Amino acid sequence: MSLEKPLEGKVGIVTGVANHRSIAFGIAKAWHAAGAKLIFNYQGERLKDGVIKLVKETFGEDTPICNLDVSSDESIEDFFSFVAQHTDRVDMLLHAIAFAPKAPGTLDGHFSDIPRDAWNLSLQISAYSLIALSRAVAPLMTEGGSITALTYYASQKVVPNYNLMAVSKAALETSCKYLAFDLGRREKPIRVNCISAGPVQTLAARGVSGFTGMFKVYGERSPLQRSCTLEELGATATYLASDGAASVTGQVLYVDGGYEIVGM
Ligand code: NAD
Repeated sequence: MSLEKPLEGKVGIVTGVANHRSIAFGIAKAWHAAGAKLIFNYQGERLKDGVIKLVKETFGEDTPICNLDVSSDESIEDFFSFVAQHTDRVDMLLHAIAFAPKAPGTLDGHFSDIPRDAWNLSLQISAYSLIALSRAVAPLMTEGGSITALTYYASQKVVPNYNLMAVSKAALETSCKYLAFDLGRREKPIRVNCISAGPVQTLAARGVSGFTGMFKVYGERSPLQRSCTLEELGATATYLASDGAASVTGQVLYVDGGYEIVGM
């Protein structure tokens, strides 16, 4: 493994780019700089033009990109047919997808108000999708592989307003561990890990009520007195995807200025 280009020769799928602020975009830039070839998705017509423009301008005109909506099995199937047209092997996959519908209690208000259909939708898109994408990508990981998902600390301790997304992240993290156990036993093992990022100003984050106040808390209480940057998330994701992390699986790695260790 070259230390300068630790992902040289590897092929990765990046999900979850919505714009230049997306964590997925920061990680894609790091993976690209580390030598990887990348394939992207956009989610639906609303994001299509902006994401295609951003991806092609940043990673080159010939970068493969296709629609993928993880709430639909048909869309997942179509996306992986597209991937298979562009490569016969995938080495890594980034899951940077989350969604909770606006409904009572979902991202503010009373947790006890969360309706059943909102719960089902959020868990399906934010957590089940990791299982569905892992199953779909596994046959293409012919030399083994690495799957990385983005999570948040509210899965472990109560963070006011995170509500339904906190439950979705708990399901995501536990799915990561069970997937790691399952897929790690293949002849060519697939590793599955989570990065637990501190707050980052993104489109998805704006949906959480009182999100900007979280930066103040991290600034005051975390050991490093701040959250994290896209570049730092990119560097951690590069490590996890590289052969340097060949024995690391089922882990939740905190990239959060150390906030996770603080009790009060
Ligand atoms: P973002 O809005 O840039 O990205 C969220 C992505 O989810 C978007 O690209 C959106 O298209 C995608 N998505 C939603 N529903 C989808 C569906 N049905 N099919 C396919 N894609 C779908 O925001 P982000 O903050 O970069 O989020 C990326 C990941 O990082 C999420 O899992 C989020 O929970 C996690 N995370 C974010 C923070 C933060 O503070 N921003 C902290 C920790 C973890």
